[in-house]
Amino acid sequence: MRGDAKSMTVLSPRSAAEAVKAYAKSPAALPFAGGTDVMVGWNMGQLNGRAVLDLSRVAEWKKITVVSDGVDLGSLVTHAQIQAHPVLKKRFPLLTAACATVGAAQIQNRGTIGGNIANASPAGDTFPALAVYEATVRAVGPKGRRGVPLVEIFAGVKKTTLKPGELIEAIFLPFPDKTPTRGAFRKVGTRAAQAISKTVFAGLLWNGKGGVLEEARLAFGSMAPTVRRLHAVERFLRGRRLNDVSITAAAELLTNDVSPIDDIRSTREYRLRVSRNILMAFLKGELK
Ligand SMILES: Cc1cc2nc3c(=O)[nH]c(=O)nc-3n(C[C@H](O)[C@H](O)[C@H](O)COP(=O)(O)OP(=O)(O)OC[C@H]3O[C@@H](n4cnc5c(N)ncnc54)[C@H](O)[C@@H]3O)c2cc1C
Repeated sequence: MRGDAKSMTVLSPRSAAEAVKAYAKSPAALPFAGGTDVMVGWNMGQLNGRAVLDLSRVAEWKKITVVSDGVDLGSLVTHAQIQAHPVLKKRFPLLTAACATVGAAQIQNRGTIGGNIANASPAGDTFPALAVYEATVRAVGPKGRRGVPLVEIFAGVKKTTLKPGELIEAIFLPFPDKTPTRGAFRKVGTRAAQAISKTVFAGLLWNGKGGVLEEARLAFGSMAPTVRRLHAVERFLRGRRLNDVSITAAAELLTNDVSPIDDIRSTREYRLRVSRNILMAFLKGELK
């Protein structure tokens, strides 16, 4: 059955305060940002009879604000806006690269960063970049605001730790204390566009004194129910020299932090092999 607009109630708040109030009053309403995920359900009639909280008039959440210690992305900022922003391009290039791989131009023009996060797909392409930049998601609800580290906003496949009545207001990206020595983003899908990731990677490295690695931040998506930072690999690499022996040993630790599955898009074996190759190429400086 197709979507039946007449059976739905649309709540249209005109500000963030109105949106929070309307959602508190109608907690069963479905927030609607760009609608690129929601409309898939609409097409199948899954929204019939439901209330929808249309966020399109909440202007406060459409802004990118640069502050002294980072950048605040309103939850309704689109993937296209992120790609076009000069400060994000310069300071958070892995995020702009990730947004450029989401769907294709049509999806990037409508799809929002808040919708991508709230949708909580294991394959969300912005998540590894947000994880290595140590982004914080700011939720707002009837009890006020709270910041949640990006990796903790996900509770499982399509599940978040947002509390009833909470909406995503913004995502805060802190400027790293030091400019990373190297960073890379890589998505592997069936095609260059309109492909859901088989695996998706973001990595940052900081070289220290004496040729050893000071810090590595590494994350994969599509390799577990939620995005994963590679804590075991990161710990192993800290203070070591990068050479064939240490890089091979680091790649062997990958399964400490990820547990991919066989599904319609790929197999566990393929995902692991490709992800190991990506990780090793990144550590060798071969991934641009
Ligand atoms: C053809 C196609 C290709 C796609 N390709 C990709 C891809 O390559 N990579 C990728 O990561 N995704 C992809 N997507 C998924 C989708 O486009 C993205 O997740 C997008 O960022 C969702 O944003 P939206 O604003 O459209 O969300 P919506 O559809 O409006 O909402 C998505 C979910 O988030 C909730 N929500 C939205 N905003 C908020 C908020 N502020 N607070 C709380 N809850 C909220 C909604 O209730 C809904 O559950 C694709 C989708 C389609 C249809």
